[in-house]
Amino acid sequence: MKKTIITLIVIVLIATLPVLRLESIQDKYLPATETTNFEIRGDAVSIFAKGLSYKTISQVPLMIDSAAFEGLFDHLKSSFPLVFSKLSIDTISTHTLWMKLEGSSTKADNMLFISHLDVVPVDPKTIKDWEADPFTGEVVDNFIYGRGALDDKASAFGILEALESMLASGWRPTHNYYFCFGQDEEIGGTHGAGIAAERCREQKLSFRTIFDEAGTISIGSVPGLEHTPIALIGIAEKGYISVEVNFEQAGGHSSMPEKENAILSASAFISSLNDNPIFSPEFTAPLQGFMDHLAPEMSFGLKWAFGMRPLTNSLILRSYQNSSTGRALTTNTAVATMVGAGIKDNVVPSSSRVVCNTRILPSYSIDDIVHAYSKRATKFGGTVQWYNDYGSGPTGSSSYDSEDFITLGQSIKSIFPNTLISPYLTLGGTDSKNFDGLSEQIFRFLPIPLTKEDLPRIHGINERIHVDAYNDLCRFYIDLFQRIE
Ligand SMILES: [Zn+2]
Repeated sequence: MKKTIITLIVIVLIATLPVLRLESIQDKYLPATETTNFEIRGDAVSIFAKGLSYKTISQVPLMIDSAAFEGLFDHLKSSFPLVFSKLSIDTISTHTLWMKLEGSSTKADNMLFISHLDVVPVDPKTIKDWEADPFTGEVVDNFIYGRGALDDKASAFGILEALESMLASGWRPTHNYYFCFGQDEEIGGTHGAGIAAERCREQKLSFRTIFDEAGTISIGSVPGLEHTPIALIGIAEKGYISVEVNFEQAGGHSSMPEKENAILSASAFISSLNDNPIFSPEFTAPLQGFMDHLAPEMSFGLKWAFGMRPLTNSLILRSYQNSSTGRALTTNTAVATMVGAGIKDNVVPSSSRVVCNTRILPSYSIDDIVHAYSKRATKFGGTVQWYNDYGSGPTGSSSYDSEDFITLGQSIKSIFPNTLISPYLTLGGTDSKNFDGLSEQIFRFLPIPLTKEDLPRIHGINERIHVDAYNDLCRFYIDLFQRIE
């Protein structure tokens, strides 16, 4: 009997040990000090709402709407007079704003805050589904509607609003604060932030930390923590590459078709991307940080699964494959985005073409991806080449143990007290990728709480932000600007 009890205790201990090993690390983000609560101006919301009325839409660089940008710049100048008189301000490229606020310390470090003033277009077919016009800056039921309300005029205006109210009280940072407001982030950023970064390289100007947009305060999107707001801070950004796969095979008359042809080869190749993915799922540094930060906050069962790693690695990776976000976090995605073949309805074509897009995980190169595609395409008789000659490798991963990551976490907790902090992998592209290598670290975070239902509003229908959320966003920058030491 005694033996059985002892065996039972041992089993229970072994079973719970992995769970006990996972201790919460959220306390280090509790703000140790209070910051000054600079008052936000009464017309902050109307200034921001008006900013959404300028159609600073990014389509292709040659189609930039100069009048819209000039109009927005005039609005900024008249709305933020202290910012425009006390900071040194430059226009880079055609419509990218570059600003500097000199720090008070003789040993000042350089900090850079990035956001962008361009927005994606609104599909005319969807305008009827908007609850307010996307380009008038309407406020309905305390929600500010418009393209850019979330991505990313909110952060540009929030930063400027914070600065304006702080400058009014005579505040000055210890460090040199630089600001870059890009003009073409939505189409790669090469003509705005890209040129700004190039100029930094020429002038040997580098930064201690860069803060850009991207991860939000996610509510309901992290499995196992559906009811907790989680600040997802991008510490690395996936790369981007598209390849073109060409298939050449004898065509002929459609009245006597062969069993094989270029369309069938292309189709078999495309299906194989789903049925037998080219790239296997794996853990990356941002995902490791994500698990370290969030697993201790989960239920006993999930804690146990994470605590039993590496034994449970394959189980965890498999569970990530059940959602598009999970797959994007753990793999080099591979998806066909364009297909083409045929010139006439009664001719079996002798060639076909498939364009595939991949978002590249940290630690892979563009060459690795092209090579992997070539290997797969060869099996189906295809050949691979770069599409459009455009591609960008993944960025490096920034440390989430660094002082500025902790400071950022403290500012988040100070304004959004019940929020958990976590590193994350940015799946899309931001302007900060242009500055890769110019900063010790880059953190991508947009201080706006968004539910699962809110996410499609970004680049979608009824993009909007609540008046209170916009005020919190301004307060967040006021807190962060003071907390950086
Ligand atoms: Zn954006």
